[in-house]
Amino acid sequence: MQATILILDGVATNRIMLKVQLSSAYYRVVQAERLDSLLSLVRLSQPDLIVTAMTLPDGDATALRQLLASDENLRAIPIIAVTGQNDRASRLRALASGIDDVLSHPLGDRILQARIRSLISLRNSTDDLRLRDGTSRALGFGEPVSTFTAPAQIALVTREARTGTLWRAELTGHVSHHLRPYRLDELSELVSHSHPADVIVIEVSHDPVDPGLRLLVDLRSRFNTRHAAIIAVPNVAAYHLAAEALDRGAHDAMPLGFCAQELTLRLAAQLHRKAQSDKLRQTVRDGLRAAVLDPMTGLYNRRYAMPQLSKIARSAEETNKNFAVMLLDLDRFKQINDRFGHPAGDAVLIETAARLQALIRPGDLIARVGGEEFMIVMQNTDTAAATIAAERVCRAINGKPYYLNGHKAPIVVTTSIGVVVGPALPVTTQLCPRDKSTQALIGQADRALYESKDAGRNQVTLIGTAA
Ligand code: GH3
Ligand code: MG
Ligand code: MG
Repeated sequence: MQATILILDGVATNRIMLKVQLSSAYYRVVQAERLDSLLSLVRLSQPDLIVTAMTLPDGDATALRQLLASDENLRAIPIIAVTGQNDRASRLRALASGIDDVLSHPLGDRILQARIRSLISLRNSTDDLRLRDGTSRALGFGEPVSTFTAPAQIALVTREARTGTLWRAELTGHVSHHLRPYRLDELSELVSHSHPADVIVIEVSHDPVDPGLRLLVDLRSRFNTRHAAIIAVPNVAAYHLAAEALDRGAHDAMPLGFCAQELTLRLAAQLHRKAQSDKLRQTVRDGLRAAVLDPMTGLYNRRYAMPQLSKIARSAEETNKNFAVMLLDLDRFKQINDRFGHPAGDAVLIETAARLQALIRPGDLIARVGGEEFMIVMQNTDTAAATIAAERVCRAINGKPYYLNGHKAPIVVTTSIGVVVGPALPVTTQLCPRDKSTQALIGQADRALYESKDAGRNQVTLIGTAA
């Protein structure tokens, strides 16, 4: 479950402070001081994300972006730049160069963590399919994706009509896209428009009755808006609001509030990302991607996951490494459907998938294996690590209530988990074919899961070996 983050900063105290912050959030941290000979370190450590100082002893954050662009395997690594002063020009320059976000000191934990989670999970969700198993080239994903050429449809969703009008006026000189303002209470028009929005820019505020934040999950689950990129704009500069929006499924957020120039750059970045995921989705229509993914949550389906599990089990057996299989089943999920309706149940499943995805390491396998059942397979993971991981998964679900659109009170969701750590699989013989041993493994994880259910739900049960 541990993602790797590279910290790049010439100042030792900055590195140490950041390392403490990131390690306490269970990231594996690699450090470097300068750009010189950085590429070999990046190739070796394969970071999931880089947090860099804006100014480095031998260059700056934009030079880092260029450096990574020279290697096709590294060019998609997300970069967060950290700056000492809030200098608008250098911030815009960094965003224009393809840096994903610029945060300024002092570095608030909340926004940093939310931004990291969001960037890693976005990368996992789309790039994953492309990069794994070398299937990408076979399916034609190796080619570069062209960005939108036709003007895109941009929805500007604000609390009051005049804010939307103002945003549109300010953006008009910068972008050639179609800009359509909506009020937050005009959701039905937004979701039924004949040209679905490519990007939804949505105002969010502190106000406890503000619908903006609640709308985020809803937009991601509605048919007409679920593929749109969502950029949240706090109505005042507020890092924690931006963090909240990212945690609730916004693809991007503007911590400093509305700024036409900055939004123009973020729109371009989101349109580029959307062009890539649209291309992947095209493949669904061809029936290829549909064969391996669950369309509602975007996770792998059971059909894909089971042979993958066998492969992981086999490789663990051969290399004599541990691995863990975690089965999750949402508790009393039927009651959620019964009380709030099936669409609300769907929204809970979608958000659960997003929360799980934010936790998993690249290389780990996550799948929706049943209605409200998920499986996570973690390679190179022993009993101690599996226990920590499973407890974190449990907390990721029960630790923060779910806000569903149309329901004032948040919903508390819990999950029961069964974990089995292998290998101790019998060597394949005619009497015990390989798929039988995978079935035995799943059977044990399932038994552990039902122990968790029997013991009162909302907990983890672990079985030490798969013997
Ligand atoms: P327990 O925690 O003890 O396992 O109880 P439970 O209610 O979660 O388990 P049960 O198996 O009785 O109910 C699972 C429910 O999940 C029943 C089914 O209607 C619902 N479900 C399955 N797939 C979906 C789906 O895709 N969307 C929604 N909204 N509900 C689903
Ligand atoms: Mg179930
Ligand atoms: Mg259940």
